Amino acid sequence: MKVCRTIAELRETLASCRASSIGFVPTMGAFHEGHLELMRIAKRANPIVVVSLFVNPTQFAPHEDLSKYPRREAQDLAEAEAQGVDVVFMPSVDEMYANANTLVTVKGVSDRWEGQQRPEHFGGVATVVSKLFNIVQPDTAYFGYKDLQQCAVIRRMVSDLNIPLDLTFVETVREHDGLAMSSRNTYLSEEQRALAPMFNKSLREMAQQINAGTANVADATLLTKGKLSQLGLSPDYVALVNPWTMEELSAAQQDARIMAAVRLGPVRLLDNIPLLTS
Ligand code: AMP
Repeated sequence: MKVCRTIAELRETLASCRASSIGFVPTMGAFHEGHLELMRIAKRANPIVVVSLFVNPTQFAPHEDLSKYPRREAQDLAEAEAQGVDVVFMPSVDEMYANANTLVTVKGVSDRWEGQQRPEHFGGVATVVSKLFNIVQPDTAYFGYKDLQQCAVIRRMVSDLNIPLDLTFVETVREHDGLAMSSRNTYLSEEQRALAPMFNKSLREMAQQINAGTANVADATLLTKGKLSQLGLSPDYVALVNPWTMEELSAAQQDARIMAAVRLGPVRLLDNIPLLTS
């Protein structure tokens, strides 16, 4: 496995690989099984897999956890290598941004939900992902449904900017108790960690209520918000959404997902599940 720290080095490394298909997994490191699953899926479909490991400062607001974001470089590199990753791109902030002045904004799909809670976030994500796409020029890029709105933003950006690659979205990898894996779960105290699985359980119960017809979407949403608050998982939002437009839905439809964010101690937990399980 080769580690590249500059754009020039990465381009030179990939120049001889272009005859093979290249899979790309963008990450911010501190790998867990969710990240490793994306790498394994990419490796099954592509002879060459590139992983980027870059904690992108422009997607964090000044009060957010950029400086505390977990960093475990040596362990991450060993784990990526064990999944068969061929190249890890690990640029410095200067290498990525120098004096860059361009911001990619994906209107509409970025505005609500996470975009409302974190107004700068998706501009930072869309900008860094479009830069990484231009640097790596992969055939296929892999993202997790765990960050559902991010998937919608990137899908829209790729379509609007005619970026020549395919996107593959991968279902969320969970702990045994249902908690969606996240690098930020390490910030939870023991007590908070014990409570955290109730988040996913509440979303699954909401899906059951809607599917069984025991509550309509509006009532099930309200009930779920109330239940989460009572448990001490303060909801920022709970909604049934169209996963590609991020519009809120008032009735079930085929690809609808229940999406939510709650605050638990120092952490915002995000999760989403398909309404209908096939
Ligand atoms: P991050 O390092 O948090 O930026 O995540 C890198 C990629 O891994 C993103 O596409 C995430 O959506 C994805 N990811 C994060 N957590 C999970 C998970 N639990 N299951 C599957 N993919 C995930």
